[in-house]
Amino acid sequence: MQTFEQLLAAWSRERRQDCYAAATRDAVLAVLEKEILRPQDFMLLLSPAATQCLEAMAARAHDLTLRYFGRAVHLFTPLYLSDICTNQCRYCGFNASNTQQRHHLTVEQALSEAKVIAHMGLQHILLLTGDARHVASPQYIGAVAERIKPYFASIGIEVYSMTTEEYAFLVSKGIDAMTMFQETYDPALYEWLHPAGPKRDYAWRLDAPSRAAAAGLRSVGIGALLGLDDFFQDAFCTGLHAWWLQKTYPAVDIGLSVPRMCPHEGSFAVPHPVDDIHFVQYVTALRCFLPRSPITVSSRESAFMRDHLVPLGITRVSAGVSTAVGGRVEQNDNVGQFEIADHRSVAAMQRALADNGYQAVLKDWEDCSVLPQIAPEESSVLCEHGGR
Ligand code: SF4
Repeated sequence: MQTFEQLLAAWSRERRQDCYAAATRDAVLAVLEKEILRPQDFMLLLSPAATQCLEAMAARAHDLTLRYFGRAVHLFTPLYLSDICTNQCRYCGFNASNTQQRHHLTVEQALSEAKVIAHMGLQHILLLTGDARHVASPQYIGAVAERIKPYFASIGIEVYSMTTEEYAFLVSKGIDAMTMFQETYDPALYEWLHPAGPKRDYAWRLDAPSRAAAAGLRSVGIGALLGLDDFFQDAFCTGLHAWWLQKTYPAVDIGLSVPRMCPHEGSFAVPHPVDDIHFVQYVTALRCFLPRSPITVSSRESAFMRDHLVPLGITRVSAGVSTAVGGRVEQNDNVGQFEIADHRSVAAMQRALADNGYQAVLKDWEDCSVLPQIAPEESSVLCEHGGR
């Protein structure tokens, strides 16, 4: 079976560029008539020629979103467990060379934060850490998951790359979803962006979603950080990666996230800023290429942009977000990983979706093989919010 690395090698940067440059408006419109798209079709939808067809792409993306997801939008929120990191990603506020004070939650502190999130009514939570195994080990992440599991239907992780065995261990602790950002699919750029730390290993990170799927995670998400490389190059490779994962792991829910770079602590200048037109082109192209894939847009984007992207293909949004460690219980104003543009609470997001004709879904999955034990003093949180 062809690995993703082999598939990516077959689509060299030069080959991508040639196909992209040769695209025409008629070829783009012909793609929009197809039921099943191939990678070369996706490439046409990302081309400059496709910017003349954005209305038609939006209409097609809207129809496909309604067909596969209805008017339902899934809500979740992140819980930052630790901002200690050994990497020096040039674009990140948690970069090890930044001198801000660092924070790391104990398992009990994480539980307190999680209870605040449960009080918001959310049933899906995403745990995040920096890349620092000496403090945020798989055992630590597993212990947090086990402790907060009674409060949530789904626990996802967005952490460093792990082995298949480590992912399987986390599955045994109640984690069912993971997201891994490749950041950029260009190996040379990747090397420059990651001057030090374990994240420097491009190939190991590239293979992480595949290891997670093989380990039994039911939901695997990927994405590139838009703005690092030429928009088209990383957009195409991200879609190609998701397409390959879907074909290789048909039982796994393969999702996409579309983060765009925003200001952060430090002095990194975004090399290839992605404007709104290309951003919308990307979301609609992804929806047409991968009609069944959930697509997430984070609170990096404005409320206006998020509201307008929902009808075009976005099916997951965060709400009630804090990107600071301990940001909810202690109301810490320590530096977050990135700046939030949409500060809406869960209730405000529910209202906005309803006003737009959509339903906010707080829970769309549960592992019925697990019956969590809840201490009596903790059960009031669940009762108040109709939890299990
Ligand atoms: S992007 Fe992740 S790995 Fe890189 S510095 Fe930030 S927290 Fe650490």
